[in-house]
Amino acid sequence: MPQFLYRCTTEGSVNNGLKSACTFEMLFEEGPSYNCPLCGHELVRVSTGPSVSEILRQGQRQVDQQKKGTKK
Ligand SMILES: [Zn+2]
Repeated sequence: MPQFLYRCTTEGSVNNGLKSACTFEMLFEEGPSYNCPLCGHELVRVSTGPSVSEILRQGQRQVDQQKKGTKK
């Protein structure tokens, strides 16, 4: 399952005024909605490009290509 970065974008008084903003971030599988475990605000998906797993796959592909290049 692809995973996406979700971020809590709550601003203002959070956690009974202990924090001025909540910047909780977490990787979740794509789903209907997630709520921040810290403040309960709905998390916003911030990944707009390829998913994290796709990025990792691309990185692995580059490593494989580099290995092929050095074998010559
Ligand atoms: Zn939060």
